[in-house]
Amino acid sequence: MNSNLALNPYCNKNTILFSNGEYCKATEKVIDLYGQTLHYGYGVFEGIRAYKTENGTKIFKVKEHYERLKRSCELINISFQYNVDELCEITYEVLRKNNFQDAYIRPLVYCSPNMSLTKPTQVSIMICAWEWGAYLGDTLLNITISSFCRPHPRSTKVEAKVCGHYINSILAATEAKEKGFDEAVLLDSDGFLAEGPGSNLFFEKDGKLFTPKTGNILPGITRATVFELCKELNIELFEGSYTPNDLQNADGAFLCGTAAEIIGINSLEKKNFNLNWENTLGKKLQTAYKNLVMEKQFAIQN
Ligand code: PMP
Repeated sequence: MNSNLALNPYCNKNTILFSNGEYCKATEKVIDLYGQTLHYGYGVFEGIRAYKTENGTKIFKVKEHYERLKRSCELINISFQYNVDELCEITYEVLRKNNFQDAYIRPLVYCSPNMSLTKPTQVSIMICAWEWGAYLGDTLLNITISSFCRPHPRSTKVEAKVCGHYINSILAATEAKEKGFDEAVLLDSDGFLAEGPGSNLFFEKDGKLFTPKTGNILPGITRATVFELCKELNIELFEGSYTPNDLQNADGAFLCGTAAEIIGINSLEKKNFNLNWENTLGKKLQTAYKNLVMEKQFAIQN
């Protein structure tokens, strides 16, 4: 048995994952310590959620996630040899083999040993899953503006979900927690609001919703879902370049992502938002989102 297992809360000796064409025990899988992804962060991944719905276990927007995995690979020149529909099927099988209904799923495309700074010769995929509650919890967040900005769009492909980008996220989230906050919001390199370390940002002012435009953010699948829900709920939504001051003067705000789902923000730099969360558009969208992922009928009539 892997001696590091005690340190790994994401699997146990029975956990099955998919790795390069076969299902195998997580503990029996060995990865190459010379891999390019481990050394340089040159790999891509996804975060997906499965829900135990009235219609059985359903993976929310599974195809969209694998399409993004493919696009992320293409954007940074990692060859993607997999069929998206097959990956969707395999993911359901990983859940079945582990008896998971509500679960978080993590596909990772990683590269073979290559110490030079060039494209890899061999690429692998693994898909694992574990049971995981809402990433940022379910109580309202107290957030701070990070001293770290998001990577500049001319320094990397910000729209790709690249492993190495998460150094920036880890630095920002750690800094926020060390300062006594729950989460950070990062600005772009021009000082406009960008996103959370692992989530997108929305804020409300005078009954309208605002969110940073694409270009400096990961365009989230949850963010796209919020757009769809706003349409259905007749909520006016604007995308643009907004300042920390705009957020400071907002009536309410929330972060959203597959792992975090929709989670309300209580305060920015310890200053509370005007509205009680229960009366915000965010709360309305949170309920609609929950209903949608749970495949409840009349998902948006709340
Ligand atoms: N921004 C960043 C930096 C993220 O890591 C995530 C999580 N994938 C998101 C936004 C939200 O994306 P999604 O809704 O697709 O999970």
